[in-house]
Amino acid sequence: MMLYKKRLMIPGPTPIPEKVVQAGLEPMIDERTEEFGQLFSELSLNLKKIINTESDILIFSSSITGACEGAVQNLFSQGDHVLVINNGYFAERWIQICEAYNLMVHQVNFEFNEKVDFSKVKKILKENEQIKGAICVFCETSSGMMNDIELFGAVTNDILSIVDAASGLGVSEIKADQWGIDVVVSGGQKALMTPPGISFVTVSDKAWKANHTSNISKFYFDWQKAKKYSQEKYPHTPYTPAISLIFQLREATNMILDDGLQNVYKKHELLYKATREAVRSLGLRLVLEMDTVASSVTAAYLPEYINAEIFVEQLANEFGIQITDGPGIYKDKIIRIGHCGYMDPFDIIATILAIETLLQKRYGYNLIPGNAVQKAQEVFANGNLVTSNI
Ligand SMILES: *Cc1c(COP(=O)(O)O)cnc(C)c1O
Repeated sequence: MMLYKKRLMIPGPTPIPEKVVQAGLEPMIDERTEEFGQLFSELSLNLKKIINTESDILIFSSSITGACEGAVQNLFSQGDHVLVINNGYFAERWIQICEAYNLMVHQVNFEFNEKVDFSKVKKILKENEQIKGAICVFCETSSGMMNDIELFGAVTNDILSIVDAASGLGVSEIKADQWGIDVVVSGGQKALMTPPGISFVTVSDKAWKANHTSNISKFYFDWQKAKKYSQEKYPHTPYTPAISLIFQLREATNMILDDGLQNVYKKHELLYKATREAVRSLGLRLVLEMDTVASSVTAAYLPEYINAEIFVEQLANEFGIQITDGPGIYKDKIIRIGHCGYMDPFDIIATILAIETLLQKRYGYNLIPGNAVQKAQEVFANGNLVTSNI
């Protein structure tokens, strides 16, 4: 292959800004010192600002799924009833976690390209008063669907509300306290521009109450222990944290807050819109036909005669651009282009141009060269992200 620049265009792990790379090269420090305490407190404060919450925040060294499992361990008891709003692969993972801890799982199912109807959720909750908590994914990364967390908060007033904001956080606004969300789970490697390995949860007063009666065994993700250590004179964690990643996530969240959350959301909105417009103009069918708010990923069907898994590999091998294929049974049929975190208009334009070239050169796909790129460029120009008439 020629010396193509590598571009990581997936919805996690995502590219890392140079300053965040450098923050990871800091020499090791003792996590029981004032220096670490300050670092840890600053990170906690940054995350609270991004989530819009005054709840406690607990930070763990694990993949995000670890913090999801921790939430189930800490909030429920065996046999408790829980409702999972299921419109995709990541919601299904929550069902698996809940079942692993012997919870009684109720599901409200929607197709993966279907918007959640929260009146249905409300109805199920009304008919099943024993349900103690409900779980909803913010951005369902398998399809790009953004679920309406404000509506979710509104229908779960009387019970615990848990949001998996793994890839949604930092892409689109979440107002956890105002919307009445008890627990937000997320991590560093999606829109927060940090290498994988950090997860975190917010815990409201209502969630703490539930925690105090939970009888599920817990150890590594024990929230009470994590809170106790986070409240010591020099805040830290019960076990050795991923110190380098904490340096990195502090740097990345500083960058996001310095840029301004609204600007960051605006950028993501334009990246999403430009990608959608361009993909549509290539004649590919989008998985989500309706326009939604900014998402971390765009999913689209390839024509039937093209295998998506192979297409993704060819795009990486021939152009250095790594996108990803579809979830589960859609592996051969769908491509997904990630656009969250440290990505900009030129990444999108390069990706679209590469997809266009591959479609045409390898598959004899009929298109007008440059059309799709122009569509993306127009979105960016109209949004003042770049202009085409410099
Ligand atoms: C990425 C992701 C996760 C899981 O993240 P891991 O770090 O791989 O465990 C969970 N939920 C959603 C919605 C995600 O996008």
